[in-house]
Amino acid sequence: MKLCSACLLGLECRYDGKSNLEKASEIILQEFKSGNIIPVCPEQLGGLPTPRAPSEIQGGMSGEYVIDGKCKVRSKNGEDVTSQFIKGAYEVLKIAKALGITEYIGAQRSPSCGCGKKYDGTFTATLVNGDGVTVALLKRNGVSVKIV
Ligand code: SF4
Repeated sequence: MKLCSACLLGLECRYDGKSNLEKASEIILQEFKSGNIIPVCPEQLGGLPTPRAPSEIQGGMSGEYVIDGKCKVRSKNGEDVTSQFIKGAYEVLKIAKALGITEYIGAQRSPSCGCGKKYDGTFTATLVNGDGVTVALLKRNGVSVKIV
């Protein structure tokens, strides 16, 4: 069993109310249909509405710094959404632990589900190295993360 970013599986939980279904591989969709994948959206689990303003981790930092209280996540309209991002990450970790799941399939560049690359916090589509908040927390707790 694996966890996967819900937007990749066709759920319309993205900030703009759309999905990322076109980015999912056929293998993942087949696994989902076979019942081997559980979809999660950390931003919704953290209490954010859909649609919502897009958010980015500030200061070019990675998700670990958010978890450790060293930087914030802000929406494009300036709202501090750090607590919702952290809550969503811990809710996903709760599911992983409850079910003994050790694999997560994330979505590219997301401030929650991204792995390896993310936007720098300036809302200028500038990429920097780093993980999203949920991915950082999962990795810290021994969950391996793949990006499609
Ligand atoms: S938080 Fe993750 S699952 Fe939710 S819309 Fe963003 S990338 Fe998709």
